[in-house]
Amino acid sequence: MDRMHTIATHCPYCALQCGMNLRPEADGRSVTVEERTGFPVNRGALCGKGRTAPAVLSSRVRLTGPLIRSHAGRLEPATWEEALDAVAEGLARTRREDGADAVGVFGGGGLTNEKAYSLGKFARVVLGTSQIDYNGRFCMSSAAAAHQRAFGLDRGLPFPLEDIPRTGCVILVGSNLAETMPPALRYLTELRENGGTLIVVDPRRTRTAEQADLHLAPRPGTDLALALGLLHLVVAEGRTDEEFIADRTTGWPEARAAAMAHWPELVERITGVPVPRLREAVEMFCAPESAMVLTARGPEQQSKGTDTVGAWINLCLATGRAGRPLSGYGCLTGQGNGQGGREHGQKADQLPGYRKLDDPAARAHVAGVWGVDPDTLPGPGRSAYELLDALGTDVRALLLMGSNPVVSAPRASHIEERIRSLDFLAVADVVLSETAALADVVLPVTQWAEETGTTTNLEGRVILRRRALTPPPGVRTDLEVMHALAARLGVEKGFPTDPEEVFDELRRASAGGPADYSGISYRRIADEDGVFWPCPEGGEGAPRLFLDRFATDDGRARFVPVAHRDAAEVPDEEYPVLLTTGRVVSQYQSGAQTRRVDELNAAAPAPFVELHPRLAARVGAVDGRSLAVVSRRGRAVAAARITDAIRADTVFMPFHWPGEGRANTLTNPALDPVSRMPEFKVCAVRLEPAEE
Ligand code: SF4
Repeated sequence: MDRMHTIATHCPYCALQCGMNLRPEADGRSVTVEERTGFPVNRGALCGKGRTAPAVLSSRVRLTGPLIRSHAGRLEPATWEEALDAVAEGLARTRREDGADAVGVFGGGGLTNEKAYSLGKFARVVLGTSQIDYNGRFCMSSAAAAHQRAFGLDRGLPFPLEDIPRTGCVILVGSNLAETMPPALRYLTELRENGGTLIVVDPRRTRTAEQADLHLAPRPGTDLALALGLLHLVVAEGRTDEEFIADRTTGWPEARAAAMAHWPELVERITGVPVPRLREAVEMFCAPESAMVLTARGPEQQSKGTDTVGAWINLCLATGRAGRPLSGYGCLTGQGNGQGGREHGQKADQLPGYRKLDDPAARAHVAGVWGVDPDTLPGPGRSAYELLDALGTDVRALLLMGSNPVVSAPRASHIEERIRSLDFLAVADVVLSETAALADVVLPVTQWAEETGTTTNLEGRVILRRRALTPPPGVRTDLEVMHALAARLGVEKGFPTDPEEVFDELRRASAGGPADYSGISYRRIADEDGVFWPCPEGGEGAPRLFLDRFATDDGRARFVPVAHRDAAEVPDEEYPVLLTTGRVVSQYQSGAQTRRVDELNAAAPAPFVELHPRLAARVGAVDGRSLAVVSRRGRAVAAARITDAIRADTVFMPFHWPGEGRANTLTNPALDPVSRMPEFKVCAVRLEPAEE
């Protein structure tokens, strides 16, 4: 490749999908990251993860050849033919002996649209299994469900990020943008420079909360009550938008009655947020012409996540802050392709184009594109946690791509046991993750800069990652893996290895569906530097949704009445403290990639337990010394980090690490009844000094 040439592409990590240029180095094995100021989302800015992303490409610990577990129990080098034969045989044997639904497939929110689409098709057409889901279920599924319920369509942000600085007020709920996607912080900074106000809702005074005009720090698991308390005050103070409610919504009387049952004093008792602060928040939110509520994992990763997000949506609807310019509710999706990953069929209940798997018309359309009989397509399967929990019992073989549930799943020790009890496990990954280390066969696959493909960022902007490097000889793309496995399992056609060919089929499969990509092409993405969906054939992309009508049958947004309920676990004598989990700026998700980057590891080398000085004094914790955190599911040990930036009844742990500091050993898999999201954000624990 021409050394002077740079290739415009995007970061492999979070949902912001920052634009960057890659300059291939003379050695042909590495690239240098350069600014790409023209991409509007980040205007050249990158966080440390994006800047150092090339390190994983040339890492000495990346996988460069397949591995097969030997009779002695060790993973040993193998040829691709041997490895693919072993995977095909492992999956076919289980299907033959235990039935198609005994074979599971687990995908990831970091897979490109083409891979997510092909993986869903592979599960349903080649394996004939209903048992497919992906780690995005653990990310934003509650917001997706609430979006669907209220607006009839789920696109994380129904407006572009560039609208944020021009609105009057933003309530940011359970998001620590300063650490999760630092370049996005500028939108909030510009908001305040323009005279707008920022309210941050978070039990911790995070780096993002430090930017806020008002920081509300509710008890973990009580932000549903907080939203209801604000809505109660909105009604009591006569600040509802009656015209908007009458013209553009349904269900207000029931939602109003539910909110009125949550008196501010009651809400103060539940949340710990004083009534005067609630009144301040209502004034800041209602005074300007326009306002937004943005949520992230805080309200979403709860066993009542869908209702919690629904309560914030109700607040937007009652005040006319939805479906209007510079106003609305939006979810800040987390994973790189968190948005696209949920649209193209790797979700247990979805077909491509965000179609429902149990909708006969949707089945007929997609089956037509796939050239199969719709009656042969399986129905909906289990959600992610339920699928992982069934491993070794109903589900006996698993193909896993782009995920590391040994670190990222709730109740992780139990899930690790379930994975170990499988008859057969095949993992495609770029490094030997904690989950790949348990596999019978490991397939080494290409990384972001070595392949081309599309992702859809948190705004619904479909963008193109471009190949900038020739991959090492021992690795293959995920598309090549699926092509080869399909052929071995008797399906010779329908799994192309060219990503553009896959995308063209995806366009046809999505045509006419809620997430319509039919008007988007690689050429068009390149010309426009991203195209928003829905974009029907011959049409324009849609950066802003719902301005004329919502996507429900009658065009009206739906209020859904919701009420506060406790988290699945509340503190008691044995487990008197709340645990909440989250992220730090220098690590990403399960850390499979970022823990292998020296610079990031030096910045964030180990997990920690953040706790308030009063709580530390009570349990005898010493800053920097090991502290054990014990829940009903297990015990984790990490260094205490004592700070008054957290509530005194709560401890925080980041979840990026395996081993004794694995936060997800502790977390509660109690599921939201609608979204099937586990309750990562709140459980009850006790603290014990640990042996050094
Ligand atoms: Fe990459 Fe996200 Fe950092 Fe941007 S904010 S550089 S997309 S990790």
